Amino acid sequence: MGASLACALEPLGLKITVLEETPLDSDQQPSFDERTIALTYGSRQIFDAIGIWQAIEMQAGPIHRIHVSNRGHAGFTRLDRQQIGTDALGYVVPTRVLGKALTRRLAQSSSIEYHCPASAMQIDIEPQANTVRVGSTIGVIDTDLVVIADGGRSSLTQGPSWEKTTRSYSEQALIGIIGVDRPHNGTAFERFTEHGPLALLPLKDERFALAWTLPEQRAQQMVDCDPTAFLSALQDTFGDRAGQFTRCEGRRVYPLSRSILTSPISGRCVAIGNSAHRVHPVAGQGFNLGLRDVAELAEQLANALRAGDDIGDTAVLRAYARTRERQTRRVSRFTDGLLQIFANEFPGLSAARNIGLNLIELCPAAKTLLLRRTVGIAGPLPRLARGLSLESA
Ligand SMILES: Cc1cc2nc3c(=O)[nH]c(=O)nc-3n(C[C@H](O)[C@H](O)[C@H](O)COP(=O)(O)OP(=O)(O)OC[C@H]3O[C@@H](n4cnc5c(N)ncnc54)[C@H](O)[C@@H]3O)c2cc1C
Repeated sequence: MGASLACALEPLGLKITVLEETPLDSDQQPSFDERTIALTYGSRQIFDAIGIWQAIEMQAGPIHRIHVSNRGHAGFTRLDRQQIGTDALGYVVPTRVLGKALTRRLAQSSSIEYHCPASAMQIDIEPQANTVRVGSTIGVIDTDLVVIADGGRSSLTQGPSWEKTTRSYSEQALIGIIGVDRPHNGTAFERFTEHGPLALLPLKDERFALAWTLPEQRAQQMVDCDPTAFLSALQDTFGDRAGQFTRCEGRRVYPLSRSILTSPISGRCVAIGNSAHRVHPVAGQGFNLGLRDVAELAEQLANALRAGDDIGDTAVLRAYARTRERQTRRVSRFTDGLLQIFANEFPGLSAARNIGLNLIELCPAAKTLLLRRTVGIAGPLPRLARGLSLESA
């Protein structure tokens, strides 16, 4: 998120320093690894506005429709781009492609100092101070504003200046790339199974990216077993709606947890992305939520500069925190709620979720509202999320 924010702020004439601990091509890179993620249409707008989308688009698989169903029951709903009139509901993008596009842009910029490998080690937060001091592997940096974007295992938000609530889930996310015997036509599948949700996301090259939430032990078995046994278990669980699964590559598991800061600001510091809020990937919202932080923070900083205000002033940062509070809470509750409703086999709940899915299917207005929210184009949007540049405000 730090790289995206730096690119977004570039036109404002600020002096920006970015510290990145892990090079893009390292196996340890936590952000841009072997995963593919689903970007919402709203996130595409933000990347468009900051001039990155062109470099991503060639390798982005558009999602034209999503089929949501409940394994073993009749409940289902179909969500289609035509219901909201956008080119796509979202895009499936390898995270390495995002990383390459962002780092190339940072390296080319004359106003952004990009240091990699370089770590921020300590931030001296003094609420009334006029600047904030960062201790790092490239020396001490004094600045008006520090944006912390060090991810879900954030060490920089561990001190007494920050308060967070965390929760570990007993499941893990298994990811991989799946070949299939027929074209997917841009259809994504979300299927709720007895253990948890299973998503198949359409890649540009007619394969699917799999994200399968499973109990820890089962997830490890599914990674360790041979490809034939794995494909057979996947087919049994998912059924044949997407076709016959023919190949699998890159199976890997991720532990899952949730962690939310009570407030993303402290002194002249603001935390964005996973360092402020890490949510379960069940609804594919984590990256999208972080990118919306980027768009809102960029907008608040642009407004402050235009008004001649100090960008690290508490009033400016509070205005930002207010804009993010509601959406962050809503997405966190939504993902937790999905897990509880759909990973639970109580007979009453099972019937209720079928009814819920069928009701959404039968009620076009509810479906459109749900879709607009999910793809990040509902409600008041910051300029970047409308695809507009900051400068033209
Ligand atoms: C299996 C799985 C599937 C997912 N699928 C989706 C999806 O489909 N859609 C979606 O929107 N989200 C998805 N997510 C969530 C998404 O990946 C994260 O929300 C997103 O990557 C968070 O980005 P970030 O930049 O905040 O943190 P990170 O990606 O963790 O990046 C943090 C960066 O900070 C660097 N860093 C750390 N400490 C320091 C330091 N002290 N100094 C300097 N640099 C430092 C790290 O090297 C890293 O580059 C998924 C997550 C998982 C686990």
